[in-house]
Amino acid sequence: MTFSWVQGLVCSDCGEAFDFRYLLKCPKCGGLLDLVYDLRQASLADLVDDNFQGMWRFHKVLPIRNPAHIVTLGEGSTPLIPAPRLAPLIGIKALYLKYEGTNPTGTVKDRTSSTAVSSAKQFGSRAITVVSTGNAGTSLATYAHRGEIYSVIFCYHRGDPIKMSHMSLMASKLCIFEGEYDDLIRSVDRCVEEGLAFDGGATRNPFKHEGKKTIAYEVAEALETVPDFFFSPVAVGEIFIATYRGFDEMQKMGMVDRMPTMVCCQSMQAQPIVAAFQSGKPFQPTSVQPTIAKGVAVGDPGPKGPRVLEILRQHSGMALAVSDAEIQEAQRLLAEREGLWAGPTGVVSLAALIQACRNKAIDSKSSAFCIITETGLTSQYPPAHGQVVKTTLEDVRRLFSCV
Ligand SMILES: *Cc1c(COP(=O)(O)O)cnc(C)c1O
Ligand SMILES: [Zn+2]
Repeated sequence: MTFSWVQGLVCSDCGEAFDFRYLLKCPKCGGLLDLVYDLRQASLADLVDDNFQGMWRFHKVLPIRNPAHIVTLGEGSTPLIPAPRLAPLIGIKALYLKYEGTNPTGTVKDRTSSTAVSSAKQFGSRAITVVSTGNAGTSLATYAHRGEIYSVIFCYHRGDPIKMSHMSLMASKLCIFEGEYDDLIRSVDRCVEEGLAFDGGATRNPFKHEGKKTIAYEVAEALETVPDFFFSPVAVGEIFIATYRGFDEMQKMGMVDRMPTMVCCQSMQAQPIVAAFQSGKPFQPTSVQPTIAKGVAVGDPGPKGPRVLEILRQHSGMALAVSDAEIQEAQRLLAEREGLWAGPTGVVSLAALIQACRNKAIDSKSSAFCIITETGLTSQYPPAHGQVVKTTLEDVRRLFSCV
């Protein structure tokens, strides 16, 4: 039996097909490449292989042909948590939270780091690189370390200290930069094109983003259907495009009978896709203002920006931008109502859902799922408040008087 159903690559711009190999862009037109699989009519149960753990249960729709190349730390199989208190409060019939904070480094990035490092091994690369504001660097360095591949990780000097400390233990070479993120990405992209390292960046490598596709499969498996709305944060667009690909593949294989309405969620400080979608104009990179949601602070996502826009336009999607205050409110409500502690970038999708409900942009009788993309344990957080107490039995006993 074939371990992976992957067949080759196809250009999403000119439609030209290519053999299965490591390519970063279409040799003909420079367009964005997608992987193609031999999709057959199948049930989800046929697809899943429980001899593997986490997202690798879906290895037939992942691009690794030999299981010996898989580098894994148990990523995927994250909980899909119902939100029975938050849903009525914000005004929606059913809400599910795909909580990615349980991944090995605490974020959704582990899914793509696993497919990236496994692909690097598959194609014989000895090094891998990425430019990061925190999560991508931590995650990729960890998986490279696990897979014994040399990693050159570029990290913004104002990254979260916990993430940088984690990264410095895992990276072969940690390089701190102070200037513009978008500039550095261009330089690193050149080095990658010269073959100096495997591309661990999010902008174009078709092999890397496949891991995030498994989010769609896991949601459909858990719910045995697809919810009406899917709220996804968008920085470069990997999560959005990969999850879209997952739903699309499942529909082609007859596993689900429809697509959810795709909602692209960005920060008001970095919203090139939302701006283009709402104005009806072509995609334009924008400048970025500081935001607490550092993981989505991207003004120039490269070729995936127009691709996200195209998916939104073809499938009657929605695009919303949220403020830092709305993000903090979502963080607080998620903790208070559902007991989940996520970082600011992690709740951008939920903040957008709250905004959509408030503005009556979606029907209150619908169902939605939000990807909560990171744990709250690795970001800066507001100061704690509690009360200072005396420690005698009398004083401690009095503290329970209100129970
Ligand atoms: C990178 C990141 C995102 C954005 O993902 P893209 O695939 O680049 O759009 C969202 N949330 C978290 C926590 C991230 O680290
Ligand atoms: Zn092409």
